[in-house]
Amino acid sequence: MKAFVYKSTGSWYTVKTTAGKVVNARIRGAFKIEGLSSTNPIAVGDEVMLEMEEGSENTATIVEICDRRNYIARSSPHNRHQHHIVASNLDQSLLFATLREPKTSQGFLDRFLVQAEAFHVPAILVFNKADLYRKKEQEQFEALNAMYQAIGYEVLQISLEKGTGLDKLEDVLKNKTTLLSGHSGVGKSTFINAVFPDMQLKTQEVSGWSGKGMHTTTFAEMFDLPYGGRVIDTPGIREFGLVDIERQELSHYFPEMRSRIQECQFNNCLHVNEPGCAVKDAIETEEIAVDRYVSYLNMLDTISDKNY
Ligand code: GDP
Ligand code: ZN
Repeated sequence: MKAFVYKSTGSWYTVKTTAGKVVNARIRGAFKIEGLSSTNPIAVGDEVMLEMEEGSENTATIVEICDRRNYIARSSPHNRHQHHIVASNLDQSLLFATLREPKTSQGFLDRFLVQAEAFHVPAILVFNKADLYRKKEQEQFEALNAMYQAIGYEVLQISLEKGTGLDKLEDVLKNKTTLLSGHSGVGKSTFINAVFPDMQLKTQEVSGWSGKGMHTTTFAEMFDLPYGGRVIDTPGIREFGLVDIERQELSHYFPEMRSRIQECQFNNCLHVNEPGCAVKDAIETEEIAVDRYVSYLNMLDTISDKNY
């Protein structure tokens, strides 16, 4: 019997069969996930095969994980080569952001976008709290909107408080599986409470990374949208981090750079101070936004730090 994983609480998983039945399931034996060392063998969003446990109506054994179409992972703070799969089989990854109370930095937006690119998951930026934007923030929004749309990202402006822009958001989410993230205070819980009024908002379950609980992880959870589609909430996960991105490949995850790096004089160009750099040329001509390049350089720095 085929099912999707909606929630993981350690050794038990809440799964929903294709017929819509909710079952508690656990793994038999150990699955080996190819190509990825992971602290969690099964992730929210996984498609699995079940065998009902004998004599039980609602407990089952997971006997197989179907191939993942994609996934988003984060790295352990202690070992960047150790991954934790946040969610799998995603159509898109959506970031809640805002320009006031508290303002989301562009660095944060760009790290989110790079991470989505690295996992080949389409990314959407949603700027909430539009009701609080003064002229200054509205101009900032227009500038960010133009900049991100120009390089292929979908950008929305909403106010959960005033209910504006929500039709558009619904269109974006409808019939898709969407990972939701955002730093705290942006309105992610407000959104989830508005869409799922019956749901009591998440008691955050806390587990440690293998070891002494030095780091806390919270579990992702998937919900069916009333208008079709699913969202995956990641309570407590502020940022996923740059998982295993090498300095040399970072520019591949900036679409406006990716399309130009073939023209750099050196094929290992990092676009910092090499001669004949097509990326730097495009910054001169303002074809690449300088703010995006600043984000690139900042990320490049953090990657080199990790290597030493
Ligand atoms: P979370 O940390 O992302 O889950 O953020 P919350 O949903 O808890 O929201 C943080 C605060 O922002 C709460 O006081 C919300 O009422 C408020 N908030 C959420 N959306 C809006 C909005 O569109 N406009 C305004 N003014 N406040 C909002
Ligand atoms: Zn270059």
